[in-house]
Amino acid sequence: MEHELRAEYADGSTPQDPDAQVKAWHVVRQDGMTAMCGRELDPGSATRTADDWGTSGLPLCHSCGALYLREVP
Ligand SMILES: [Zn+2]
Repeated sequence: MEHELRAEYADGSTPQDPDAQVKAWHVVRQDGMTAMCGRELDPGSATRTADDWGTSGLPLCHSCGALYLREVP
């Protein structure tokens, strides 16, 4: 199962905003728009490789983290 990280933006920010503030990174299954915690994410939102999970300084969704760790060996 391939995963990637997808951004949730702070209130008032949109993916089109160059200064958009990312509120949290969620885990989605590849090309998915629904985070593992159930949140629907904007199709235009930024993505990162799941390899960035755990990179210090990234605001991560804790619910996604718990589910992701259960799915990934
Ligand atoms: Zn999440």
